[in-house]
Amino acid sequence: MSATHTLALPDGEQIPYQLERRSRSTIGLKISASGLVVHAPKRVSQSMLENALRSKADWIRKKLLQIGDLLPAPMAWEDNATLHLLGNPVILRLSSSDRNRQPEFGLGMLHLRLVDVTDAGAVEKKVIQWYRKQALLDFARRLELLSARLGVALPKLYLSNAQSRWGSCNSKKEIRINWRLLQAPPHIINYVICHELAHLKEMNHSAKFWAIVESLCPEYRRIEKELRHLSPRLHQF
Ligand SMILES: [Zn+2]
Repeated sequence: MSATHTLALPDGEQIPYQLERRSRSTIGLKISASGLVVHAPKRVSQSMLENALRSKADWIRKKLLQIGDLLPAPMAWEDNATLHLLGNPVILRLSSSDRNRQPEFGLGMLHLRLVDVTDAGAVEKKVIQWYRKQALLDFARRLELLSARLGVALPKLYLSNAQSRWGSCNSKKEIRINWRLLQAPPHIINYVICHELAHLKEMNHSAKFWAIVESLCPEYRRIEKELRHLSPRLHQF
């Protein structure tokens, strides 16, 4: 007997899983390209089971990210590679120069002039620096507009580099947004910012919290699914 369930994590992430009840005494987890499969003893209640799964959430998330089939090929840092910016493709152009220069962006191209264009590590470093700079400008503007709409004081914004989280908010009212999100379409970035802003009012994932998210972002359920689907691609670099 197998059924699809959804594990809700404290940070709002939802992980779908297949549950198979078995005659066994322990809970077993299996992660494959098709996702998480849980083998559980017949007697374990659903809430006990989900508590056990939540305690292993970090491991589950890490494994899901690691599954090769979910991950696109690693980024090839070469001329004409395709990057993504706000959901749009951007072509990476590389050319040799007497010294490493600041990247130039325009007409759907990010142009890097480097001493050694075959140095993939140097290309990656320059691109990430550029993304982080743009991310801070872009997220700051969205945060300003959305915090005004919610009627809260503008929180402090930091970039994060987390592997499995898109945003976080702490009790000091500091908001962290993953710079990789700049690759995603604007409505997804807006949703993540709305989610963290809503935590300034409700530091939990209660119904009250989701009502605030919904007031700022009525389509948050659909967008969250979209983000989950997009996540492996956003971790390409
Ligand atoms: Zn949250």
